[in-house]
Amino acid sequence: MSILNYIKEYNACDFSDYRNKGGLDESSRKIIDIIKSSNLKERDKSLFPTGLKLDFFSKVSDPGKMVLVLADNVEPGCFRDTYLLQNAIFAVFEAVLAVLEATSAKVAVFLFNPWQKEVAESVRSSLNILLSDSDFNQKMKLSDIDFEFIFSGGLCNFGDPVLAVDQISGRQAVARKGYSANYISPSDRSLLGKPVLVMNLDTLIQIPLILRKGPEWYRSQGDPENPGTKILSVSGAVKSPGIYEFYYGTNIEEIIAKCSGEIDFEKISGVIPAGYGSGIFPIKHCSSLTSKIFEGSGALYFYSEKNCPVAIASKILNFLSGESCGFCIPCREGTRYLVDFFSNCNKKPVYDVQYKSYSYSIKHISEIASLLKMTSRCDTGRRIALLVNSLIEYFPTEMEKHFLRQECSVKQCWK
Ligand code: SF4
Repeated sequence: MSILNYIKEYNACDFSDYRNKGGLDESSRKIIDIIKSSNLKERDKSLFPTGLKLDFFSKVSDPGKMVLVLADNVEPGCFRDTYLLQNAIFAVFEAVLAVLEATSAKVAVFLFNPWQKEVAESVRSSLNILLSDSDFNQKMKLSDIDFEFIFSGGLCNFGDPVLAVDQISGRQAVARKGYSANYISPSDRSLLGKPVLVMNLDTLIQIPLILRKGPEWYRSQGDPENPGTKILSVSGAVKSPGIYEFYYGTNIEEIIAKCSGEIDFEKISGVIPAGYGSGIFPIKHCSSLTSKIFEGSGALYFYSEKNCPVAIASKILNFLSGESCGFCIPCREGTRYLVDFFSNCNKKPVYDVQYKSYSYSIKHISEIASLLKMTSRCDTGRRIALLVNSLIEYFPTEMEKHFLRQECSVKQCWK
């Protein structure tokens, strides 16, 4: 059984039906041991063992500690969180209650983006159904738990929990070096002065299935190193865009075949494998992208032969420029320059004496990308570099046509 089948079979959006079928089981279990034994890993780039993360947080003694549920899928093309909140809300609550029980936390904070007002309302209504069942309420001691709903400022954060917490705490969102495993220690950043455990919905939704089927069964599903599925939001030039799930390591040809019925390389011309920060690639290089798809946000976008990769990259850069927190000068200024570069690509290039090349030259932006790659403090700057480098590496002819000859092969940028 997979997550999407589980959600349907257990009718996880109906409280009574879900409970009658065995969901929202209130028996007390050694949840951390179960999760550790299942070998569940975080559904993000860190692939950190979830059981270990819960174990660490359970040892934090502050009674005000919080569990922050990232439900805000801000990244364009990622609609997984909204899907889970609308179709599996009681499985989500079951997972959150299991994490609260395992870590002895008493506060659960749901983070939404500013455009999810209706989704948040429906989650609140579902919570009220849960709270109004006096039997369940008593057994789970729900009156001891504080459920908070908050809205972010709309920044994407690329899954970086430190940025997410900073953003909603009203601090300037400044990333820390490297990548954290969604666990923010009490000595690091905190939410409203309290230690916080950040959980994403993609990871949480695995927990009810593990509790139903057992850790041994879960370990046998897919890749033994990283069992279970990842939920992807698939959009663009496929016949059936929507929510899909695949075992870790499933190759992209299989994914396209499932979403399209067949692989039509004529129609699908390229892919953005894991959200806006993952680069842009021609479809003929897709076999090397399998691991990228599973490390990212789960937003998988295919574009057709009618779309220009340079035009797509230009839109993505515009988005990414708004994500720069401004801490690093190369990211703050370089991203602005890149946006300017792409938006001026239809202007006649001017010879730049310093660079001994035409201004807005490809060499120039390649240098900025290298600088961003070397000096960026967090993933946002490196993702911008990745996008530019993927364009230079995989679309050299298209880049030259655009920036030196003001031509576009698919006549999207200039007719
Ligand atoms: S790389 Fe960009 S987003 Fe990241 S810390 Fe530096 S300025 Fe901020």
